[in-house]
Amino acid sequence: MDRLERIVPAMEGFGFRAAKGQTIRVTDVNGEQVADFVVYRADDPTERIDPNVTMDALHKMKVVPGDILYSNKYQPILTVLKDDCGVHDFINAACRREMYELLYDKKEHPSCHDNLSLALAEFGLSEPDQHYPFNLFMNTVIGPDGSITVKRPVSRAGDSIELRAEMDLICAISACPCSESECNGYVCTPIRVEVY
Ligand SMILES: [Zn+2]
Repeated sequence: MDRLERIVPAMEGFGFRAAKGQTIRVTDVNGEQVADFVVYRADDPTERIDPNVTMDALHKMKVVPGDILYSNKYQPILTVLKDDCGVHDFINAACRREMYELLYDKKEHPSCHDNLSLALAEFGLSEPDQHYPFNLFMNTVIGPDGSITVKRPVSRAGDSIELRAEMDLICAISACPCSESECNGYVCTPIRVEVY
């Protein structure tokens, strides 16, 4: 499959293919920007990346190079090759319009849910009831009392993560459009995607 390089503008999404064995590199261009990332098996989209299954299989919620990310069918779907940041999120669902209504009293706010759904629609995938992405560069801190706080990302400009596709994939990524919280350092910025 061909190489690909694309800047995903701030607050937007992008869909693309990656063939088995290709590397997907996602770069936080300006720093402190979360990218919600989902991948589906190209020849059977009932199989997708599953952060919950990954946590179950790895017995942890922090990945390092060499770790495998699993599908909902407990198959290796991505492998972490390189990671400049080391802080990503497995537990939050993609932000969606209804979240902005509930938490910020804002209507019709752009969202990762809509960005991902729109990107996947180009490949014929229908909108899921909810997206459960691997949230790249998202800094979620769980307190000893069980509290969950989304802190400012620790990613700096140019930090990237490289993932190897373990099957032919349809992928979608969203430069998270939340400027209301520390999630993206209060400023939404672009993400770069490369496949090679
Ligand atoms: Zn988001």
